[in-house]
Amino acid sequence: MSNEFQAGRAFAQTLDAQDPLSSYRDKFHIPLTDSGKTSIYLCGNSLGLMPKAARQAVEAEMNAWADLGVCGYFKDGDPWVRFNENIREEMAAIVGARTTEVVLMNTLTVNLHLMMVSFYRPEGTRTKILVEENAFPSDRQAVNSQVAFHGYDPSDHVIEMQPRTDEHTIRTEDILRTIEERGEEIALVMIGAVNYYSGQFFDLAAITKAAHEKGCLVGFDLAHAAGNIPMSLHDDDIDFAVWCNYKYLNGGPACPGGAFVHEKHTSGNATLKRFCGWWGEDLEERFKMTPDFVPSAGAAAWQLSNAAVFSLAPVRTSLKIFAEAGIEHLRDKSLRLSAYCMYLLDQVDAEFEILTPRDDAQRGAQVSILVHGKGREVFEALEAGGVICDWREPGVIRIAPVPLYNSYEDVYEFVEIFEQALGLSTVMKAAE
Ligand SMILES: *Cc1c(COP(=O)(O)O)cnc(C)c1O
Repeated sequence: MSNEFQAGRAFAQTLDAQDPLSSYRDKFHIPLTDSGKTSIYLCGNSLGLMPKAARQAVEAEMNAWADLGVCGYFKDGDPWVRFNENIREEMAAIVGARTTEVVLMNTLTVNLHLMMVSFYRPEGTRTKILVEENAFPSDRQAVNSQVAFHGYDPSDHVIEMQPRTDEHTIRTEDILRTIEERGEEIALVMIGAVNYYSGQFFDLAAITKAAHEKGCLVGFDLAHAAGNIPMSLHDDDIDFAVWCNYKYLNGGPACPGGAFVHEKHTSGNATLKRFCGWWGEDLEERFKMTPDFVPSAGAAAWQLSNAAVFSLAPVRTSLKIFAEAGIEHLRDKSLRLSAYCMYLLDQVDAEFEILTPRDDAQRGAQVSILVHGKGREVFEALEAGGVICDWREPGVIRIAPVPLYNSYEDVYEFVEIFEQALGLSTVMKAAE
């Protein structure tokens, strides 16, 4: 792969000139540095940039509130009662689901709990949850508290998959072997599809198949995968998934997240238990105001409360951009951006390690760089040089070249500043 690239800024500019998606950059606000320069924003894995059209989309709903008051719930064309229902199709296309298998609601950790209420039902000797080491803390806290809620001790009821000694990522074969050996004790396999720290993308289909063969249920956290890597949740037979929409999906801070429930759990005489609230009720029944619960079709039945229209409006704006650009096209550019980044990093003569797998099938947009010893200083020098990226203890700089709004030249400039930062002297010169 790497021999398709060349060193030097001119080559980055050539790649940008050939990029069929380059015009999408202009649809986003890119933050400026203190000195007024356009920053090199490589933090879309943490908070995606604001689509320029989002402001107007929120304002339109604000205006509807001003003009219509409560009648906004039933306004023509785009009633608030159907606001999140009407954006499911675009969402479903991104994660590879049927329209009724997805719902936009709450935030990620809340959705994870709601899904575990339904999908973590320990019984007899099948009581454990399999997770990956270095899972995002909130996921691990949710898993541990669910286990404790059912009266078990998380220290022996949460099985943690680990990388082998001297490796940074977890081998799929090791996950499959653990499922094979311990599957009968495992009620639920719950893994972050892309690990937030290493950037490793797991083989969702293989893990799901192995887990189902042993009778376990399977859920994935797609926080770092949704809008990053095309998936096929339905065809892979995954039981449930949850995600947030503010990372690669650019929906804005704390915007409603997503949940996926496979159709097989909601059709026919499915008997899954769930926590209920009025917004999960079928729209025909909801306003009859009776205490019994007639569920909406599919994942929508898990909604508890009425939809957060103002914070969903930017999500809708962003999903339209995704539908236009196409997740497959975005993935092509994304793989090329990260491969180019690794190619350039390989030319830097200094002590650091790339933790993220080089194999296309095992990574998304993110590249995690472990800088031994002086990582924090390097990170601060990057910031001073106009790069917005992030730092995760104990020593990792994460960057995410996002195909919607990052350019090859962004990547080039990042590596140039990174190289200077490792020398820790000429950083400000690079920022000019
Ligand atoms: C970003 C992220 C979260 C954040 O959770 P919220 O409930 O949206 O605050 C949780 N889990 C993972 C894996 C994440 O990457």
